[in-house]
Amino acid sequence: MTTVLLVAERDDRGEIGQATHQAITAANGLKDAQVTVVIAGDAPASVTSLPVDSVVTISPIDPADNGIYDQVTADLAALVSSSGPDLVMFGKTDFGSVVGARLAFRIGAAFAPDCVEISNEAGVAGTVGVTRPVYGGSALAEFEIASLPVVVTLRAGAFEAGAGTGTPTVEPFVSDSLESRPIVVTDTVAETREGVRLEDADVVVSGGRGLGGPEPFSVLADLADVLGGAVGASRAACDAGWIDHSHQVGLTGKTVSPDVYIAVGISGASQHMAGCSSSRAIVAINKDGDSNIFKEARFGVVGDWEKVLPSFLATVRDLKA
Ligand SMILES: Cc1cc2nc3c(=O)[nH]c(=O)nc-3n(C[C@H](O)[C@H](O)[C@H](O)COP(=O)(O)OP(=O)(O)OC[C@H]3O[C@@H](n4cnc5c(N)ncnc54)[C@H](O)[C@@H]3O)c2cc1C
Repeated sequence: MTTVLLVAERDDRGEIGQATHQAITAANGLKDAQVTVVIAGDAPASVTSLPVDSVVTISPIDPADNGIYDQVTADLAALVSSSGPDLVMFGKTDFGSVVGARLAFRIGAAFAPDCVEISNEAGVAGTVGVTRPVYGGSALAEFEIASLPVVVTLRAGAFEAGAGTGTPTVEPFVSDSLESRPIVVTDTVAETREGVRLEDADVVVSGGRGLGGPEPFSVLADLADVLGGAVGASRAACDAGWIDHSHQVGLTGKTVSPDVYIAVGISGASQHMAGCSSSRAIVAINKDGDSNIFKEARFGVVGDWEKVLPSFLATVRDLKA
């Protein structure tokens, strides 16, 4: 049996988020797994039908934590030492990346970030196998981890959000640890967002340096709007101040796995592709036919975005109508 602690995240409504539903699919795909979902704060009523064995609540996230999550990390460390899981799972989100790494260090466990596959059947009994992209997504590496527990984060979109229901028990876990905070956060800036989250979007329309300035991002936003998607950007566009860094896709930005990724005026550098190469179809609009993006794209238009994009947008609008 493999025991899994799966650390949940909420969406904007306080419900269990997409990353957690995807992680539940991954956990339930393991052979003979016993899955416990851990959630900070009062659990929403919907957890009682999650397809897992149990749900454990820990203390709520302290707003003064400001993205450091000291108390959550301390609670999870206490929970791991009392329950002894083989595997601790997070979605690869800002929360999962911060708390996962901190927890692994705290409990002296291996940390495998950004996994796209996970198995307890492939290798030696009693080990966990993970697959994760390396070299900016140009290769996949397989690891067999024998020293358990292991802490993993799972790439968004690598697993389908799970269907099915269950009747888990729901219990609180009360930890007596109260962290002293050696880290002082001096400021936080809340990300303002309208519409669908970049990481959850089925369609992403991204712009790069080839757009030439900030104004064209409003055309990209119109297209994203019509397609029910979100706007992304290359680091060059973000560094130029044309759009906020929260839209950045890539190695040092967000990882997205939409059905369609439309790259406009983006050259397709490996660091950018690291964040979007798992998209189901990439569509490139670029005036340089030799640009690297065309090696990765399923569909491409060689041309100036100023000519291509307005007619593309008009056609999509017509088709939608
Ligand atoms: C450690 C490290 C981490 C990095 N992390 C990231 C990351 O997370 N995300 C990221 O994106 N980058 C990242 N980079 C930067 C990356 O290497 C590239 O520099 C960057 O992605 C280039 O952005 P770009 O494609 O918008 O610009 P460029 O490479 O300048 O490409 C612009 C493209 O626009 C095309 N173009 C120009 N005019 C038009 C027009 N009128 N119509 C159509 N096409 C046009 C050009 O042909 C060109 O292909 C990182 C780099 C390093 C070293």
